[in-house]
Amino acid sequence: ANVAMHQANLASGGYAIYAGGQEQEHMRRLALMGDLHRAVREHELRLFCQPKVDIASRRVCGAEALVRWQHPQHGSVRTAEFIQLAEEAGTITPLTNWMLEAAFSQIYAWHEAGLDWPLAINLSGHDLYDPRLTERIRGLFATWGIAPELIQFELTESALMANPAAGLETLIHLKQLGVKLFIDDYGTGYSSLSYLQKLPVDGVKIDQSFVMPMVVNGNSATIVSSTIELGHNLGLTVVAEGVESAAIWHRLVALKCDVAQGYLISMPMPAAQCQAWNSTWSQNGLAPA
Ligand code: C2E
Ligand code: MG
Ligand code: MG
Ligand code: MG
Repeated sequence: ANVAMHQANLASGGYAIYAGGQEQEHMRRLALMGDLHRAVREHELRLFCQPKVDIASRRVCGAEALVRWQHPQHGSVRTAEFIQLAEEAGTITPLTNWMLEAAFSQIYAWHEAGLDWPLAINLSGHDLYDPRLTERIRGLFATWGIAPELIQFELTESALMANPAAGLETLIHLKQLGVKLFIDDYGTGYSSLSYLQKLPVDGVKIDQSFVMPMVVNGNSATIVSSTIELGHNLGLTVVAEGVESAAIWHRLVALKCDVAQGYLISMPMPAAQCQAWNSTWSQNGLAPA
């Protein structure tokens, strides 16, 4: 394995560069998987946060926790790529545990500093079928003394649909802890909202692939508006992700969408920058269109 890793490094000149050729790509991915274990152990992961804003009041209503990997030799590795690798390799559990620890200690630090943002943590499909997950989270609540209202979880549609029965059981246990649950990337799977609302969830996040083009593409606009309407009829909070422009924001206001998240409001940032960002936002809010 070491030889393969070495060759992959030489061949690709680093993980960030795609060397071309299936074999080289395969070796690059193998090497990256090996390094991921070390990344968790050796503190190469970082907690970034992206604020979410309540559209009606324009107040911050929380943030999403997003992991970043700063590789010592190869710089930052794309998050979607290493998450997918970890899921495929069955090694997502240590990463999830790292993220849970990071999120709870960050919320504690914010609270001490007078900032009480609910933080949403992404769970993967494997986590849903991890029988120890709920107990671990219960332990973190006990250790950090954090109010359940300050923790949310985001689960993708595809994760939930992979094994609906096991998924439902975990959701029920998580809800018993008093946290809020959101369905992530809504619209990219093939499940109906009427099925999903049978699950004990509080809201849906409309995937950015529908939100970003909604002001230029009629079909996307229809999907967004009908999801908001149906979501509201089912008593769910509706979040739009990928809010990149003022034009999108204004359409979401008109459609009475509940919450917005995206580059228009803020890029994801290191958790330590959130307090400063929050004071600026409370003073200036959204820049006028
Ligand atoms: P996600 O949960 O749907 O997170 C939203 C993604 O959209 C983030 O990408 C965020 O940086 C990006 N984004 C936010 N606003 C905008 C915008 O206005 N325009 C565009 N183009 N993109 C925007 P990121 O951070 O690269 O994460 C990618 C995915 O990786 C996440 O998608 C989530 O599925 C997964 N992920 C991230 N952190 C974790 C984690 O700690 N655990 C697990 N299991 N998955 C994670
Ligand atoms: Mg998410
Ligand atoms: Mg999402
Ligand atoms: Mg997404």
